Amino acid sequence: MENSAVTVAVRVRPFSVREKAEKAQQVVFMNKQETTVQHPDSKQSYSFTYDFSFCSIDETDPEFASQQTVYETLAKPLLERAFEGFNTCLFAYGQTGSGKSYTMMGFGEEAGMIPRFCQELFSRLSSTENQEVTCHLEMSYFEVYNEKIHDLLTQLIYAFQLRVREHPVHGPYVAELSGWLELGNKQRATAATGMNDKSSRSHSVFTLVMTQTKTECVEGEEHDHRITSRINLVDLAGSERCNSAQTSGDRLREGASINRSLLTLGKVICALSEQALSRRKVFIPYRESVLTWLLKESLGGNSKTAMIATLSPAASSVEESLSTLRYSQQARMIINLAKVNEDTNA
Ligand code: ADP
Ligand code: MG
Repeated sequence: MENSAVTVAVRVRPFSVREKAEKAQQVVFMNKQETTVQHPDSKQSYSFTYDFSFCSIDETDPEFASQQTVYETLAKPLLERAFEGFNTCLFAYGQTGSGKSYTMMGFGEEAGMIPRFCQELFSRLSSTENQEVTCHLEMSYFEVYNEKIHDLLTQLIYAFQLRVREHPVHGPYVAELSGWLELGNKQRATAATGMNDKSSRSHSVFTLVMTQTKTECVEGEEHDHRITSRINLVDLAGSERCNSAQTSGDRLREGASINRSLLTLGKVICALSEQALSRRKVFIPYRESVLTWLLKESLGGNSKTAMIATLSPAASSVEESLSTLRYSQQARMIINLAKVNEDTNA
């Protein structure tokens, strides 16, 4: 078992058409690992340090972070860990319109973390040298809205059975998986129309369960060695209704209509970082919401977890950006206990 803190990255998106039209002032600046916010009113500056900072404001900037950069830095290492048999989780946090879905799903050439992750997973499976490994993949894609889970695919679980030896070409799998992703996204979008802000208030959870089975022959006897990894890729609801300070009883009651899952996620993160700092057992309220219950193993559990916090660069979002940055700073203090999920049977 190894200790590992949650990896936390921040990403600032380009100015939107509206922000440009308003001649919005830039208040978020990045320099290496440091992210600084200059408050437009108080003129005070706030600095935060994370594992990675991705500045995606201006493509001509030599430090510009593309989807590929974010993938290589943040998501790809999780893929490596998944192949080693660790559970992994990547979630995007930030106010509505800050770039969570762009980062996680993206579109077309600007594909986000989920399609890139899947693409590479399949291409690795097909190029593996080891002929004795069989891989079984299960995929699910659903959303959590109003504390209920909605399946975004017609079947809850779609299973792929890949026998590397028999399928040297990965093409069909990628195409098939893209089809399922597209269907899920379409369902998410369709369900969102008619209910104004549903998409900003729902969490989407894309899960892959990968089981690698290796058959070894020891002294004439065949043994199956199995490693399983659960991969969660999560696009969270907009954080604007819920900041990390809302953990006291009063604010909780007041917020009957706010997103319970996101609020509880904040409480869980808070409790986990308190536990990590104080080195004593603290009660972690996983069961208080559907999302935290689902992600239990990814938060302070047996998982390699990364979080990407997304920001608008503009002055008009300064308070939301500060709240996102504070929340992320707490997440960075969480210690997960990750171990390889393996079993061997003769
Ligand atoms: P969220 O999911 O957080 O509500 P979106 O991902 O939908 O926000 O992003 C809002 C808008 O900003 C979209 O039009 C999206 O294409 C654009 N956008 C977000 N991040 C980036 C980025 N890094 N580069 C280019 N456009 C972006
Ligand atoms: Mg979104």
